[in-house]
Amino acid sequence: MQVLITEQQIHDRVRELGQQISEDYAGRSLTVVGVLTGSLVLLADLIRAISLPLRVSFVSASSYGGTRTTAGELSTDRSLLADLSGRDVLLIDDIFDTGRTISRLLSELQATQQPASLKTAVLLWKTERTEVPFQPDYVGFQIPDHFVVGYGLDYNEQYRQLPYIGIPDPEDLARAM
Ligand code: 5GP
Ligand code: MG
Repeated sequence: MQVLITEQQIHDRVRELGQQISEDYAGRSLTVVGVLTGSLVLLADLIRAISLPLRVSFVSASSYGGTRTTAGELSTDRSLLADLSGRDVLLIDDIFDTGRTISRLLSELQATQQPASLKTAVLLWKTERTEVPFQPDYVGFQIPDHFVVGYGLDYNEQYRQLPYIGIPDPEDLARAM
């Protein structure tokens, strides 16, 4: 495993994002919606860096039939989602790759929930891969087009618990089969 972003770098950056979000939404309360499962670790750390009244909710998004580099059919599940009408909502995901997942979720939430506002926060943004006409509002790190794991991101459901962002070696991928 090659370390791309260290635990300390993530820790410092997540605190900065939390402070920025707290300033931007000062005087309001926030509903944080995590995209399962990859947002789990970022969400847990980020909400503890936000000093606002705050609620947590979840949606699920997964793509089927994709490979490590190509996206499959995207399916979403809103059955865990709280009522967001009139709320200031921050959608949190691990990574903004093509942007299709976030794009789809944003239009679904906008169409079905009428939130007062809707923004996005991600730990990582693969800027070279963006295929949608907007950018995430809060970004931890812009990264080149590498397949990464750790801090919530998996390969075959493994490596989510790594405290850093890593680029797996072929042996790491073979171990997770
Ligand atoms: P998008 O819809 O933006 O193309 O992709 C979003 C989803 O693809 C992410 O939520 C994540 O599940 C997966 N993904 C994209 N790039 C990576 C990566 O480098 N590593 C891992 N583990 N997952 C990725
Ligand atoms: Mg994901």
